[in-house]
Amino acid sequence: MTKHGLIVSLSGPSGVGKGTILAKVREDFPDSKSSVSVTTRSPREGEEEGVAYYFRSKEQFKQMLSDGEIIEYDEYVGNYYGTPAAPLKEMSASGSDVLLDLTIAGSLALKEKFDEAVTIFILPPSFEELEGRLKGRGTETEEVVAKRMAQAKGEILRANEFDYVVVNDDLETAASKIEAIIEAERCRYERNIGIEKKSSWA
Ligand code: 5GP
Repeated sequence: MTKHGLIVSLSGPSGVGKGTILAKVREDFPDSKSSVSVTTRSPREGEEEGVAYYFRSKEQFKQMLSDGEIIEYDEYVGNYYGTPAAPLKEMSASGSDVLLDLTIAGSLALKEKFDEAVTIFILPPSFEELEGRLKGRGTETEEVVAKRMAQAKGEILRANEFDYVVVNDDLETAASKIEAIIEAERCRYERNIGIEKKSSWA
């Protein structure tokens, strides 16, 4: 019997460095898979359909939702983002670990539907650091930075609803903590012994 792969979801406030950490973990775990989300936002330059995202209209997205094709979704800056259910189930059932980059509400919604999902919250080392990073990007106006900071303060209060919390004070350290979490989750007793834990896939 093939062991199911892990479904690991990372979230954190905007500017926390989630993308960079995930890229490092993916590099260190080349067998892990990514899920391609569906979004209603427009493609950015260089983003390919079916690679970066599946780009759909709001009507198409709503249809997919009502057809039960999306396991979790959220609205972010005026657009919908959702994880297609079928490919996620297939990748996990074939034994691949799947790493997801979701909004905070998205990770929590996924966990609600699928209790075995492993949710990780990335925290900034401090608010000052986060503000510095948002400003350092140079792409956001002061007003946007202030809005993102206010939002981050609210979001960080939800960290306690996650399975794990990792502080991103240093990329290498944060990535290796996430890798340690993944290794530990792979070793969980019920994932290795033939005891049938109630599966949400059933
Ligand atoms: P971007 O527009 O920059 O590609 O993504 C914006 C945010 O959407 C990212 O922070 C990412 O975490 C989140 N996101 C991407 N795909 C999904 C998804 O399928 N579900 C949820 N809940 N969030 C997503």
